[in-house]
Amino acid sequence: MNTQKTIAGILFDKDGTLLDYAKSWVPVNYELARIAANGDEALARTLLVAGGMDPDSGYVTPDSLLAAGNTVEIATGMVKAGSPFTIEALREKLDYLFANSTALAVPVTDLGAFFAGLHAKGYRLGVASSDNERSIRETAKRFGFDGYLHYVAGYDSGFGTKPEPGMVLGFCAATGLEPHQVAVVGDNNHDLHMGRNAGAGLTVAVLTGTGSPQSLSAASDHCIADITHLETVLG
Ligand SMILES: [Mg+2]
Repeated sequence: MNTQKTIAGILFDKDGTLLDYAKSWVPVNYELARIAANGDEALARTLLVAGGMDPDSGYVTPDSLLAAGNTVEIATGMVKAGSPFTIEALREKLDYLFANSTALAVPVTDLGAFFAGLHAKGYRLGVASSDNERSIRETAKRFGFDGYLHYVAGYDSGFGTKPEPGMVLGFCAATGLEPHQVAVVGDNNHDLHMGRNAGAGLTVAVLTGTGSPQSLSAASDHCIADITHLETVLG
């Protein structure tokens, strides 16, 4: 039996994978906490800590709520930690904040050129994010890779949430690939577990997000510094 894996499609996480997490999201997390605290500065600090971010250093704990949660999960956690809003009201405010934060996003590399290169080699390409679909599409347009994507899934696209396998299976349905032909690339364990739960051929961890080699080693086949090293592990 030929055990060599032939990867024909790549499904990327967005935040911490295509976008540099610290540069793109730490400022947004401060704003998120201000909004969730309705302007109460002491409460905002409490909410950041509850979400997994140190309010002084900006350090975000791997796989914490702010590192890995989708909007509903973050809103739920903030309300549990003392935010005065209802979960639904806060979810709406946070989705609005996130969609408008694409203007602040800092990419890991020239994403237009990066996706063009993979597209030219024949790979099917997609993005699966815990952010909302609108934010993903705006990011893809802003950085010039929307034309190379065969598939986009946010937490609100109907494929379920990470680490469920649905976003990978949706990518397979959209491209005609089998899960073993797909590489899943992400900065959190929920990305890697989503890949493993779907039977993906390869899981690749990157260190441009909130994870560390220690936190990501168990669920990844490869751990690389950033996506520019991806082709060295695709075979
Ligand atoms: Mg991520």
